[in-house]
Amino acid sequence: MPSCIICHNEIEKKNSLHEECPNGHQIHKECLKKWLSQSYYCPLCNSKYNEVIINEFKLYQKEKEKEKEKELEIKKQQENLIKIQKIEETNIFLKMIEFIEQLIDNEEYEQALDKLDEFEDKESIEDKHTLMFLRGKINFMRKKYDIAISYLFKLVKENFNYPEAFNYLGKSYKALGLNDQAEWAFKRAK
Ligand SMILES: [Zn+2]
Ligand SMILES: [Zn+2]
Repeated sequence: MPSCIICHNEIEKKNSLHEECPNGHQIHKECLKKWLSQSYYCPLCNSKYNEVIINEFKLYQKEKEKEKEKELEIKKQQENLIKIQKIEETNIFLKMIEFIEQLIDNEEYEQALDKLDEFEDKESIEDKHTLMFLRGKINFMRKKYDIAISYLFKLVKENFNYPEAFNYLGKSYKALGLNDQAEWAFKRAK
């Protein structure tokens, strides 16, 4: 039984999954495809494979390149779509924040909290922190200082660099007469 000059596995005479060089050196078609991407000459005797084999390989390579280009194109389109969706999501989020700030200005705290509930499942940490801050701020405004503290304290534990959160945390402590804690928070609000 002849074997392939590349992988040394058997070559079955019956099927047509093999080729040979002009000197009859047998090689699997799959092994030959890989070899032809480097050289058109038989790895054993260095004679050139015939034009039919080489042209078939060139066609195969062209097809493969086209497929790759198509895949790349599709990938690019998908990435662009995701980018656009992210931008839209960000815009919606920012509009919502703006709207909630307006509700707070109008002292409509219950409505503001209801609105926040709709956006609870945000994925980015930054957005989550924005929501936590607003919950803290709203609860301070409606004089629920202990609830405000629980949100704001959790927030500054996760993000120490959030002066506005420390500011409302300090105000909430102060409202409860917890002056030491208030001082601690105000120091970090600057
Ligand atoms: Zn082989
Ligand atoms: Zn050969």
